[in-house]
Amino acid sequence: MTLDATWTRAFIERTADVVREQRAALVELDREIGDGDHGENLERGFSAVRAKLGQQPEGATPGQLLKMVATTLISTVGGASGPLLGTAYLKGAAALGDATELDSAAVVAFLTAARDGVVLRGKAEVGDKTMIDAWTPAVEAAGLAAGDGAEPAAVLRAAADAAAEGAASTEPLVARKGRASYLGERAVGHRDPGAQSSSLILAAAAEAAATPAAAATTGEA
Ligand code: ADP
Ligand code: MG
Repeated sequence: MTLDATWTRAFIERTADVVREQRAALVELDREIGDGDHGENLERGFSAVRAKLGQQPEGATPGQLLKMVATTLISTVGGASGPLLGTAYLKGAAALGDATELDSAAVVAFLTAARDGVVLRGKAEVGDKTMIDAWTPAVEAAGLAAGDGAEPAAVLRAAADAAAEGAASTEPLVARKGRASYLGERAVGHRDPGAQSSSLILAAAAEAAATPAAAATTGEA
């Protein structure tokens, strides 16, 4: 069973929903070790994305839809996270090319290119207490799941679970990148907001793949 543009639209919608629901929590995390704008930044970006989603042509491919997310985030989200996440979607979209059906290998290629885009732009490594602490374990878990023959939905579930663990793993760390790096030891005990939001994004991707609507359109057709 593959994923298609219907999944992509559901992924984007769910992300916008969860970012809105979690806005205050993300603001709170960023208030603790940053400047408190992460929730607002993402909500501004994803509400602009949601507005544009309805205007996309019916036949838009997953890659085209995700590229729209990229350019919208880059132009509307301030702060470090806008260009970083924008680059993730841009590179991820490019990895999909003009595919209309995404198999497990395509899902892994998407996640890998997205993570590599963040690294290219932000130069963070695992353990620096950034969104990379969510993305890299997600990419690794996705690769392992796909290697075991998992369906795309299960690959995304594995990625999302690993990202959630990765976000939690940032709590004891000292930050080496971004605003939180100015805090030194004072960042210890706080979860990185960008790692948390990236894990929410990946959870949205997995949930969108697990819904009956996504399954119905990718099933017998
Ligand atoms: P700002 O830090 O400019 O206020 P946000 O609050 O929107 O921007 O985003 C902060 C998040 O960006 C951090 O929690 C971290 O996950 C991420 N981040 C910052 N710098 C980097 C980097 N160099 N590489 C990867 N992620 C980073
Ligand atoms: Mg901030």
